[in-house]
Amino acid sequence: MPLISVIIPCYNEGSNIEHCCKEIREAVLPLKAEYDIDLEILLVDDGSTDSTAEKARELSERDGRVKFLIFSRNFGKEAAIFAGLSHARGDYICIMDADLQDPPSMISAMFKKLKGENLDCVAARRLSRKGEPLIRSLFARTFYWLISRISDTKMQDGARDFRIFTRKVADAILSVTEYNRFSKGLFIWVGFRTEWVEYPYAERFSGITKWSFLKLLKYSFEGIIAYSTLPLAISSFAGMLFCFISIVMAIYYALKALIYGDPVTGFPTLICIILLVGGLQLFCMGILGQYLAKTYLEVKNRPKFIIAYTNIKDKIP
Ligand code: UDP
Ligand code: MG
Repeated sequence: MPLISVIIPCYNEGSNIEHCCKEIREAVLPLKAEYDIDLEILLVDDGSTDSTAEKARELSERDGRVKFLIFSRNFGKEAAIFAGLSHARGDYICIMDADLQDPPSMISAMFKKLKGENLDCVAARRLSRKGEPLIRSLFARTFYWLISRISDTKMQDGARDFRIFTRKVADAILSVTEYNRFSKGLFIWVGFRTEWVEYPYAERFSGITKWSFLKLLKYSFEGIIAYSTLPLAISSFAGMLFCFISIVMAIYYALKALIYGDPVTGFPTLICIILLVGGLQLFCMGILGQYLAKTYLEVKNRPKFIIAYTNIKDKIP
């Protein structure tokens, strides 16, 4: 019998997961009737400080189809997704948020599309950013605009991590073992035939968003660093440009002094130029440093997550 694994990264979602699991079970019922498909729910508790872990245990005691992975601390949503993927046994895999902003009722239609059109992945995209703070949505749009221009990995604006895909895609994602993970890009990078479905914005069932503006900004820089080396090229280009300008200026002033015997003037200009070039050098070094820091993290090869407790016995190698 085929199996669908639903992976839910949870960070302080104690008030949501019960309702979320209930809705998933209901959403999968028509699929059970039509495709005779079994369900497994993987709750990945990303080091929550609320009742998420207890709730996950409780839910798994009540329903054997619910599995839990409890992290030793908060490793981030990307790590939770990776942990879920590496423990999911399903032939089909679904990733969704715990807060019901990704409506479980869509699972059935998305699965039917996947099977009906013989696709490898069906992903969800939000129709509008309504309800989001203006500044946040402005930055998000700018990010997608920028990344689509500076990277070969074309990411869709409004794309969520909510998607259903086949085992082939899951194995491909798992084969990318990098530490600095950016799922939206990874799914595009691995390829496969993907179709998008659109859905309107939904409010959180309860609780608050775990992504502060700063956290999102950091995440978007990580996305840029992981999928584009253009910033490095820009800094080399700026370096070359400034060298060229300085050579031209040196020749110009040398000739001017030789021909007209001009006294040395323009100290304020000199100071401005020194500051500008100094600043630019630091900026470029900063860019270099960012790439180096990411490389350092990769080279250390630390585990992406540490599981403190789980009810999954047969560990997948
Ligand atoms: N999440 C997580 N670890 C984190 C932050 C968030 O596992 O460090 C989970 C969170 O519990 C939720 C999903 O990622 O299931 C999306 O988070 P959230 O709803 O806060 O993001 P938003 O929908 O506001 O973008
Ligand atoms: Mg949410």
